[in-house]
This record gives sequence, C-alpha cells and structure tokens, in this order.
Amino acid sequence: MTQRKSELGFDTLAVRAGQVRTSEGEQSEPIFPTSSFVFESARQAAARFSGDEAGNIYSRFTNPTVRTFEERLAALESVECCVATASGMAAILTTCMGLLKSGDHIVCSESVFGTTVVLFETLLSRFGLKTTFVPLTDMQAWSEAVRRDTRLLFLETPSNPLTEVADIRQLADLAHDNGALLVVDNCLCTPALQRPVELGADLIIHSATKYLDGQGRCVGGAVLGSRDLVGGDLFGFLRSAGPTMSPFNAWVFLKGLETLSLRMKAHSANALALARWLEEQPAVRRVYYPGLKTHPQHELASRQQSDFGGIVAFDVAGGRDSAWRIVDSTRLLSITANLGDVKSTITHPATTTHGRMRPEARESAGIGEGLLRVAVGMEDVKDLQADLEHGLEQLSGA
Ligand SMILES: *Cc1c(COP(=O)(O)O)cnc(C)c1O
Repeated sequence: MTQRKSELGFDTLAVRAGQVRTSEGEQSEPIFPTSSFVFESARQAAARFSGDEAGNIYSRFTNPTVRTFEERLAALESVECCVATASGMAAILTTCMGLLKSGDHIVCSESVFGTTVVLFETLLSRFGLKTTFVPLTDMQAWSEAVRRDTRLLFLETPSNPLTEVADIRQLADLAHDNGALLVVDNCLCTPALQRPVELGADLIIHSATKYLDGQGRCVGGAVLGSRDLVGGDLFGFLRSAGPTMSPFNAWVFLKGLETLSLRMKAHSANALALARWLEEQPAVRRVYYPGLKTHPQHELASRQQSDFGGIVAFDVAGGRDSAWRIVDSTRLLSITANLGDVKSTITHPATTTHGRMRPEARESAGIGEGLLRVAVGMEDVKDLQADLEHGLEQLSGA
C-alpha cells in the first residue's frame, strides 16, 4: 500500500516504478520471502505497530516485494494507492468487506466474471449485502436499479466473453449523482489499454492472474484507487483478514508488468486478425470483438480504449455439440479457462466459466450454448486459424 504520482511515461513506469534498490545494488527487483521484520528496539517495535513510524512489520500486510508491485501498478493506473491481494476474487471480496456493511446495495452488470456473480449472489447475500444485476450497456436499467442504499456500481468493460463495452464516464456520473462509487474490473484491458480512474471510476479491480502475469503462472489480484478509499478500511480488511499476495507471486507479476504494453499490442493485433478471419467462416454465425466495425460499441471502444484487447468470442450454429466439436478438434489451443496468457486458450463458457450461473441469468447475459471464447495469445495467427479450421470445416461439411 503506497503512493505514486509521476511525470514519467507509461513504458518507463512499467519497468522502473516502485523499485527501491538495496545496499546489494541489484538490477532486478529482489524477492523478500520473510514472514516478519526485525525491529532495532522495543521502542521501534511499538512505533511501527502504532503506525507512528512507517515500515515493515509482518508480511500479511507489509512486504517490500509486494509493495514494489503495488507501487508499479498504481503508477500505471495513475492512482494514488494499490492493495495487492491473493487473487482477483480476493480483491473483489476485500473491496466489499472493506467498504460496505450489512444492508448496503450493489448494482452489478450481468456480464461479469461468473464467480463474481456467485460471490455477490450466494456468499455476500448471506451477510446482508443486496445486489441487483442489470444489462451492462443499458443505461436506463442502471439508473432504475440505483436506490438510496446503493453504495457500489460494479462492472467489467469489455465484458467477458461477449466483449460488450460500457461508457465508464456516464456510469461514473450516475454513481456520483447518487452518492455511490463506480468500481471497474479492468482485467481485460489492463492499464496498457484503458485507465478507468481517468474516466471517472473510483476503484479498479485486477485479476493479476491474467494479463498482468501474462504467462499463466500465478494467481493474484489488486484493488486500486485514492488513498482515502484504498488506504483506509479496505487496507484494514486486508491487514486483519489476510487475503494477502505472496512475495514470490508479486515478483512474477512485477516481471509481467515490464512487458505489459508490448504484450497487449501483440494480443490485440492477433485478436483483430483472428476476429476478421472468423467473420469470413460459413459455420460462424456471429463474432464478438470490439475492434470489428460491426461491433455495436466499436465507436465507444475506440474512444475509451487505446486498443481492443485479446478476447474474441464467436457463435456457431448447432449449439453445444458444434461448439464442443470445435474445442475437441483443436491441437494447438489449450482447452483451459484461463486468459491473458501468451498461449491461446479456448473455452465453452456455458459449461465452464459461466456454468454455475442460473440458466436464466446465463441466457439473459447472452451466453448461448453455441458460444466459444478464444483468449488470443502470441502464436502465429495462421496457426491459430488452421487449428480452428479443423472443427469449423466439419461443421460446414455437416
Ligand atoms: C479471472 C477473473 C477474476 C477473478 O480473478 P482470480 O485471480 O481468478 O481470482 C475477476 N474478474 C475477471 C474479469 C476475471 O477474468
């Protein structure tokens, strides 16, 4: 949990921000695998614990490697404060537990990560938090869902897997007119492509597991925002409840941030090429990618994001049988639910990532049985096309 404001450019911050060299003069950031820190005296121990003196105490809430990651990500999102967490879900949990109380109300997009729906609807509801789900791009539904006890508006843009894009500025105005906070899960764009706080959002959620790592190695997350919002009760929840990022994982994510902007450019270029190719395939009914002119929010995405990201979804005729046949015909794409990796992955959302949603909620969020999601990695696009062609040819031949 630390502060960062800088005049340096994004790519400079991505490789430099937050590093504090030790007396060893290391070039690469060190890992501090230590659970606690030693004080010089009883007086210093007391001062650290009371907060009179800043400094390390215990790695549940103060660790130098984790702090370097927090500072670097805060610099990239151009916010004051970041709290790193054990996972993306822990970041969302920490936000709710840190800032809300029983009886508070959340308005949430229907098109959020499936586990986020489960967290709000099944777990947090047991502790008196109420959630209303609304279609991501329906401004009127958002306005109508806001009540006097609404504290948070929560969304992902672009959404996963359908890549719908919401207007962050408009939703921030709605939240602020009603005394609520706007929370944006910025997982799919990362700060390399979109900086929600610059568009009016109050809090940013990350699953560092995805593009921040970028090579499918570690699970982690983060919450970012102003010092007031993130450095107070929210950090207090992390300190007392302990959904903490490990120093080793923080180090892996730091290395990931160093190549983030290069990777996001490559993911975006590959995804656009694959999306355009999919549009030409006879067995494909519809392609979802914000970089396509046919995407309903293409204009908004072009304004709000600096590129369109690595997630492409498409619908095939014939429902689950056809979709599964394409998945099972691949040789190169990994059949796994993760995204944000240099290795491309393919998923059937209705039976995996979104399988725990109630079927009506899934339908209403537009996740059909014929829908497939590809998280486009960094292989040669021609090889990805050839891999999808095995299954697609069987469908058009049938
Ligand atoms: C994966 C994901 C999460 C959850 O993150 P974990 O690190 O898996 O806990 C939250 N939001 C989005 C958009 C995700 O893709």
